[in-house]
Amino acid sequence: MLERVPCETVEMAARKKLIDRGVTIEAIAEIVYDLQKPYAANLDLASCIESTDAVLNKREIQHAILVGVELDELAEKGLLSEPLLSMVKQDEGLFGVDETIALGSVFGFGSIAVTTFGYLDKQKVGIIDELDNKKHQVHTFLDDLVASIAASASARLAHRIRDLEENRRVVDIQKREEEDLIG
Ligand code: MG
Repeated sequence: MLERVPCETVEMAARKKLIDRGVTIEAIAEIVYDLQKPYAANLDLASCIESTDAVLNKREIQHAILVGVELDELAEKGLLSEPLLSMVKQDEGLFGVDETIALGSVFGFGSIAVTTFGYLDKQKVGIIDELDNKKHQVHTFLDDLVASIAASASARLAHRIRDLEENRRVVDIQKREEEDLIG
């Protein structure tokens, strides 16, 4: 029987992929900050970094990163077969598998994550816009993955801020987060 891949190996690989492709947690957190600032007057960047980092603990997201970035890299090296190679390289308008994979990984964070993902898909901001403009590289999947991480981190933060405002005990907040952590 094949040996199971340890979760830690998967998480490290997914986090490394983001860094290798020029995406830092801080850059994603800046998007989260801009998204949540209108709803939270005292918001600081550190909370957005914490939330982005927490989202990267989720297996659903790690798996999406590994699949998506792998396809970007294979397309960049010309290693996909046609016609998929051309569609991924050109980020073809009607090719929506990049969005589908990214969208699939936000469901664990609820309706705010889903609607925010749709918003970021249209309004390319910050690092998402930068990736979109790096024409010598292929970021067809990565830009949507970054949008999904930012959307999930925003949703998580929105719920967390409400819990803190209502003075829920930290231990209760953590318990709920652990229960929400499907993967
Ligand atoms: Mg895309």
